Amino acid sequence: MERNWAGNLTYRASRIARPRTEAELRELVAGTPRIRALGSRHSFSDVADTPDVLVSLDALPGDVEVAGDRVTVPAATRYGDLAEVLRARGLALPNLASLPHISVAGAVATGTHGSGDRNGCLSTSVAALDVVGADGEPRRVLRGDPEFAGSVVALGALGVVVRVVLDVVPAFDVRQTVYPEVPWPSGMAELDALMSAGYSVSLFTDWTGDHLRQVWVKSTTTAPPADLFGAGPATAPLHMIPTESVDAVTEQLGAPGPWLDRLPHFRMTHKPSSGEELQSEYLVPREAAPEAIARVRAMAGRVSPVLHVTEIRSVAADDLWLSGAHGRDSIAVHFTWRQRPAAVAALLPDLEAALLPLGARPHWGKCFAGTDLASRYPRWSDFGELRRAVDPTGKFDNPFLSRLFGTFG
Ligand SMILES: Cc1cc2nc3c(=O)[nH]c(=O)nc-3n(C[C@H](O)[C@H](O)[C@H](O)COP(=O)(O)OP(=O)(O)OC[C@H]3O[C@@H](n4cnc5c(N)ncnc54)[C@H](O)[C@@H]3O)c2cc1C
Repeated sequence: MERNWAGNLTYRASRIARPRTEAELRELVAGTPRIRALGSRHSFSDVADTPDVLVSLDALPGDVEVAGDRVTVPAATRYGDLAEVLRARGLALPNLASLPHISVAGAVATGTHGSGDRNGCLSTSVAALDVVGADGEPRRVLRGDPEFAGSVVALGALGVVVRVVLDVVPAFDVRQTVYPEVPWPSGMAELDALMSAGYSVSLFTDWTGDHLRQVWVKSTTTAPPADLFGAGPATAPLHMIPTESVDAVTEQLGAPGPWLDRLPHFRMTHKPSSGEELQSEYLVPREAAPEAIARVRAMAGRVSPVLHVTEIRSVAADDLWLSGAHGRDSIAVHFTWRQRPAAVAALLPDLEAALLPLGARPHWGKCFAGTDLASRYPRWSDFGELRRAVDPTGKFDNPFLSRLFGTFG
């Protein structure tokens, strides 16, 4: 049976169906009692998994179609491929995640995000979704519909998304500048100053010492800062994991270039990150970030030995019911772990004991331990009602959803 990208999860599905037409997909969904959509398999959690049937849309035909300031995208399209189509039209997406390899539907379903004080998660670009429902019938959910905000970050629970309509903007250039050895921000004002140093800013650390390992600043209209709290820009390209090759990272050293060649950290043609890894991430309310950082730093002795690197990003508030940034500007604290599942599993409950009381919400596609999460999402019970309305028999339920929402019904 097939595995996820990191190899930490073997899908338990009895089979992975690959329909070749939309009619075939509709028939499959209508005639299968339990089924889940699978994207590009980049999640570390079992959010996609099921002991029943998985359906991949990577064999479904369909083109990316641009009309005005909207683009219609077949669900399995990878952001890197979509970006090339937009490049040819002089268009762009406002933001991208660290890697261009992931599918649009999978990223949107989990609230995947990049960084930027004014950038919402990638799901906030969604204007409409074409979904095959539990009865096998197609339905279109449009921004403005009452159920729209519950239907975008939907964890595969509301049907199989066939097409996603996204907002696009005029193409823009980005300069990427990396600053090594920047002093840790001492409080909210300094954290704000770092995060606002560019259009999209990422802080990298292993949690030891008085300095961040690197700060990556992606600048658009304003010039990159000459220094960050006295730390000047790097004079050679850097990978955020020092043992990895710089060939994998997108161009740095402040050279201007198209958005799609700078906003992701990793090149489409190369392996992103380490590959030998697990990931976890928690989004905390922005004002709680200094305390969250202090709490993890206090655990450095336990965290660092299991870690490749941490990335800290900012995500703008949105109204999507299950988004990590629902209703609040957020700081996302991410962990790229070494692939040591037992050690990571032992650490996560303590990490969550430190972060969850601050209002942290886990990234749905990454490893987390807590299951009692309802109180941190104001629209949690509305999502449960929406599920029951569109999927009365629990066709799209799976063990991941049962752990969080209870037995379906
Ligand atoms: C190296 C690496 C770097 C990463 N960097 C980032 C990052 O910068 N920011 C970030 O936020 N995350 C990041 N992630 C996490 C990743 O973005 C999420 O796990 C995302 O969900 C992966 O998309 P996917 O297509 O692989 O989805 P999958 O893992 O295949 O599925 C995820 C969910 O989407 C649902 N889904 C997929 N397709 C459909 C569909 N057609 N209809 C309905 N539901 C569907 C599945 O049912 C499942 O619930 C990273 C992951 C890796 C491996």
